[in-house]
Amino acid sequence: MEGIEDRVLMDILSRAVGPERAPIAFDALSQAPSTSVRYNPFKLSSYQKGSVVPWNKYGVILAERPRFVMDPLFHAGCYYVQDSSAMVVGHIFREHLDDFASLGRPVRVLDLCAAPGGKTTDLAVSLRERFGDGFQLVANEVMRNRASVLADNVAIWGDPNVIVTSCDPKAFSKLEGFFDVVVVDAPCSGEGMFRKDPKAVEDWSPEAVDLCAARQKRILADAWPSLRQNGLLIYSTCTFEEAENDSNVEWTASELGAEVADYEYSSLSGVIQARTGGLLVPGFVQGEGQFVSILRKTAPAGSTKNGIEVLRPIRNGLEKGVTKGRDFIPSADWALSIDPPLDKYPAVELDRDTALRFLHRDGIFVEGQPEGFLIVCFEGHPLGFVKNIGKRWNNLHPQNRRIRIDL
Ligand code: SAM
Repeated sequence: MEGIEDRVLMDILSRAVGPERAPIAFDALSQAPSTSVRYNPFKLSSYQKGSVVPWNKYGVILAERPRFVMDPLFHAGCYYVQDSSAMVVGHIFREHLDDFASLGRPVRVLDLCAAPGGKTTDLAVSLRERFGDGFQLVANEVMRNRASVLADNVAIWGDPNVIVTSCDPKAFSKLEGFFDVVVVDAPCSGEGMFRKDPKAVEDWSPEAVDLCAARQKRILADAWPSLRQNGLLIYSTCTFEEAENDSNVEWTASELGAEVADYEYSSLSGVIQARTGGLLVPGFVQGEGQFVSILRKTAPAGSTKNGIEVLRPIRNGLEKGVTKGRDFIPSADWALSIDPPLDKYPAVELDRDTALRFLHRDGIFVEGQPEGFLIVCFEGHPLGFVKNIGKRWNNLHPQNRRIRIDL
């Protein structure tokens, strides 16, 4: 692998899977990575052909990588492109949802390091399938520019119960004991992404690993007060480093007050049982590297009843539109939501070329449609709104979401 000495890489892998098995991972890292998607069951009933991800029935590993940007269904939130290993986090979450079946109030989940939204969109599906409307999922991302990508991806996915914030983890300490589950998909040294991300290779050093491990502890400690007693913490990284994985989980258990939940990670095809969690390593699984563990908080916690407003969400659930003078202008997000207003606005089916031109924010027009707001669709899936003003349509696709390549 370019950018890192074979000896150093072999050393990393030996520590992860043992010296006998390290060559398997080493060889896998010289192969092309797989491509996988997770489809949105509230929008699609299946997705093309491919093999099903062992831990997600909506996850599909594709034979080759399509040009997603040229597929209108990608922009309609019908699926999300996500590495199959990363989907294991959603599986561990689902396996523990029984804990929250009889709370007598909506389940509250915080996805603390959420951009660009892979785990968030997976968690949202599991929560809706299990609890209907009875949940609140806060997706947070501290970096502003990444938070706006997260907000777009959440809007496109279309679940109205997802709130997006952009706060430092420390801000959540204001919400003492508020969350039933906190997911920390921590920034890490990224060894598991070496095959996909040259920057992860470039930035790697033993010192970077130490810095990451220290930062992860800080993030865990900062978010900790917001988890209620007996609530669950799911901790994940995409690195193989013990200092960032097992050691941090053990530190959380002993220093913050939690017990590591029993879970047989090796029951999942190709997943390696680590001391406190499951480790996914290329060569043993089809996807990239990932670590996941789950803990139950034993320490006492305060109890905040309400209060997401204090975090000033950048997206506070679904905003259906805005009133301008006497007009109500419906939002693109409403059309993209899992419950689009097809009973309120006429829908117009577009062919692929016109759909792409709509997404490119070009002027498009289809004869014979009623005046006013129209929902434009591709293969029956809403893409957004246009306003028919007679001889032309105003394209209401958001500027920041437009396809930027030449068609
Ligand atoms: N969960 C995301 C997904 O599945 O799409 C991936 C999250 S990525 C592994 C880690 C995230 O943590 C990045 O978006 C990064 O910007 C964010 N981050 C970086 N430094 C952070 C910090 N000090 N506190 C909290 N989050 C941080």
